[in-house]
Amino acid sequence: MAGLDVLMERGVALDFIKEISTIPGGEEIVQCIQCGTCSGCCPASFMMDYTPRHLVAMIRAGLREEVLSSQAIWLCTSCYTCTYRCPMGIKITDIMYALKRIALRSGKYPRGLKVEKLSKEFVNMINRYGRNHEAELVFRFAMKNPFKSIKDIPLGWSLFSHGKLPLMPEKIKDVNKIKTMIQKAEEVGGL
Ligand code: SF4
Ligand code: SF4
Repeated sequence: MAGLDVLMERGVALDFIKEISTIPGGEEIVQCIQCGTCSGCCPASFMMDYTPRHLVAMIRAGLREEVLSSQAIWLCTSCYTCTYRCPMGIKITDIMYALKRIALRSGKYPRGLKVEKLSKEFVNMINRYGRNHEAELVFRFAMKNPFKSIKDIPLGWSLFSHGKLPLMPEKIKDVNKIKTMIQKAEEVGGL
């Protein structure tokens, strides 16, 4: 990869870039021209500690710890605008997903975000019903820290009273097929 040779000449540690390059489309990250289009069009960048452009630059600089412990990757809403607009065809959204998986596996995610618990509850939910059941997910997650969750009761009630939190889960027909897919994804380190 020509881009990697240039980075190596500049003395950049390449392990992290190579790790990201193993995801489909991830190898294009070395082609980033730092134009900032991704940050400019990202609807969540105003909340992020590092913008998408900044994160790409940090990956290229080999700053693994800083990237994996950033809040930005968890604030990405997967809207795919950056991926659609990037002039170099860099699949930033997929890279964000990959970063989440690596952060969970290596335990480097920001401690305050409780993302590991939420992620596990979500996967359990999909295993049970084949789809998300928001009311149960919110309840189970809230029970991890009941006192902290008291403040969210008015929001939960508002969602429930507007019919946005149905109490009964809907189960898909072939839930076992979903379970098999999740199992396979876990086997190859995808979850
Ligand atoms: S839009 Fe693409 S090329 Fe431009 S900074 Fe973002 S990732 Fe790099
Ligand atoms: S996919 Fe994520 S990073 Fe890209 S524009 Fe949307 S929110 Fe921002």
